[in-house]
Amino acid sequence: MPVLRVALDLPLHRLFDYVAEVASPADIGRRVRVPFGRGEKLGVIVDVVDDSDWPLAQLKTAGEILSDLPPLPADFLKLCEFASAYYQAAFGEVVMQALPVGLKRLAPPVRRNGRAAAAVKAVAQPELTDEQSLAVNAVDPAAGFAAHLLHGVTGSGKTEVYLRLIERALAAGRQVLLLVPEINLTPQLEGRVRARFPAAGVVSLHSELAEAARERNWRAAFAGEAEIVLGTRLAIFTPLPRLGLIVIDEEHDASFKQQDGMRYSARDVGVFRAHQLGIPILLGSATPSLESWANAQSQRYQLLTLRQRANPEASLPVVHILDTRQMVLQEGVSAALIAAITEKLGRSEQSLVFLNRRGYAPVLACPACGWVSRCTRCAANMVLHLADRRLRCHHCGCEHRVPKACPTCGNQDIHPFGRGTQRLEGWLQEQFPEARILRVDRDSVKSRKQWETMLERIHGGEADILVGTQMLAKGHDFPKLTLVGVLGADSALFAADWRAPERLFAQLMQVAGRAGRAELKGEVVIQTQYPDHSLYAALVKHDYPGFAATLLKEREQAGFPPYAFQAMLRAEAPQMADSLAFLTAAAALPEIGEHENVIVYDPIPMKMARLASLERAQLLVESHSRPALQAFLPRWREAVEGLKAPGKLRWHIEVDPFEF
Ligand SMILES: [Zn+2]
Ligand SMILES: [Zn+2]
Repeated sequence: MPVLRVALDLPLHRLFDYVAEVASPADIGRRVRVPFGRGEKLGVIVDVVDDSDWPLAQLKTAGEILSDLPPLPADFLKLCEFASAYYQAAFGEVVMQALPVGLKRLAPPVRRNGRAAAAVKAVAQPELTDEQSLAVNAVDPAAGFAAHLLHGVTGSGKTEVYLRLIERALAAGRQVLLLVPEINLTPQLEGRVRARFPAAGVVSLHSELAEAARERNWRAAFAGEAEIVLGTRLAIFTPLPRLGLIVIDEEHDASFKQQDGMRYSARDVGVFRAHQLGIPILLGSATPSLESWANAQSQRYQLLTLRQRANPEASLPVVHILDTRQMVLQEGVSAALIAAITEKLGRSEQSLVFLNRRGYAPVLACPACGWVSRCTRCAANMVLHLADRRLRCHHCGCEHRVPKACPTCGNQDIHPFGRGTQRLEGWLQEQFPEARILRVDRDSVKSRKQWETMLERIHGGEADILVGTQMLAKGHDFPKLTLVGVLGADSALFAADWRAPERLFAQLMQVAGRAGRAELKGEVVIQTQYPDHSLYAALVKHDYPGFAATLLKEREQAGFPPYAFQAMLRAEAPQMADSLAFLTAAAALPEIGEHENVIVYDPIPMKMARLASLERAQLLVESHSRPALQAFLPRWREAVEGLKAPGKLRWHIEVDPFEF
């Protein structure tokens, strides 16, 4: 009798064997019902063989092999195999997380007919600039695998390059995967792609889609009916029979990195997938990740550059660094910025005040006894939200009513300390009583739908002044916006996290890029106590390459990525001693001594050591050779799995960790 090797959604690095009455290699990639424990599970058949490592008589018999769907193709299973091996994630979990919920259920899925998309009239193509033409012509879908990095200043028309390449791929009968950051995937973008390719099926895949819609779109993509798949990070795993081009927009964006469950980078999986299929991949950004930039410098990726804004009337905004050391600020705002906003109001243009801290104030404090509003579950302060009179922890979500008096000494005169977007909004409204002020942050925009509405209001000219966090920084054109004021950026200059400068520069370039996208000239005012800092100097010159070169030199000297390869073992438990003891045991495993090229650091508490009542610690392992690290990790992981740990301890390994 044939033996099925089945992947199940379990955190175990092994396959499960079942005997089947009838099965053939043609069933590889099909879903199958199998008995498991006292119940039943749905798995995916990875192989059909004649024999097993177990005595056949001990194997259970598999149930029904489902045929409502064609088998998942070999290249999809291979992609999952790669992700499983590279990220030390259980293969079955990788396969199952890639499937829509409905296809993972034991109950047979209900086939729903999708609504046919309304016919759209094709829109005319804008003419390409010379730089855009060069970029488009550099990507040859017929030439096999090649990774391209499209570095284009904000407003340089990267999207138009994507659309032209998509057009070519479609003409060659291929499918296209276009990945965008979580927040950029709006119906407007979908509409723009649809309008350009009215005959092609366009589907979107993202986490906020209702289950039925996601399954419908996934099926259309898998069946080859949808030719363009527009998605966020998880869409990188969609099986596509005729995939011919992968495009990743804003490739530096943190939302491409999954930070829980299987911790993977959709960008890196994308590069692997393009390589596996022998097709081109295009990574686009105004501020590429240093990893991608280093790959372009060493010519592993081909660098394509757009230096000019696509609209010949639009020039890059002028960036002013405002030295606030000698200034008297009101609520953190300089008189110069107020004057600039006043001027824009007079001309009916929009201003944006950027402050990357939501809430009213970051903490509530008692001046009499020194009490501050700490979260009892995390190593963090509770943020004051005055609008609904709550104290909220932005890390674990826990919240309380604002106390009327100090909980420690009873003092009734407790104060908010520092400022967030709510406080700034209120103060600006007092300064400009006539102005229409719109606050845009995760408190005012909680869903994709609200984000949509907010964008429409901004475009419709319903706001004179925008107050917002990084939400506002990304990829949207606001033609009337001509002034961007940046507050509170200094705090990230000297952060302990060595990735912080890279992130801050990208964020400020993005937010500055909102100004002056059309004929109106834009200006940016950055308030700082460190006017001579090299990061600000590079911003004034819009000099990403110069800034990247400086950072890469620093990274090389310090031996940080991309000049070293890292993995992190993290443990969390109610007691820090347990977390540290577990990591200490993991650091002492004999497997470590066998790998000379791998350095294991000492276990340390995480920077935010306490989160949601768990004490977290981490252990960094590093190598100058990726193959050496990759050879070490599976053996070490197996040994770690064998360690005894207290019942409430959880651990995971993250490869290429993002946060420290
Ligand atoms: Zn007090
Ligand atoms: Zn908390």
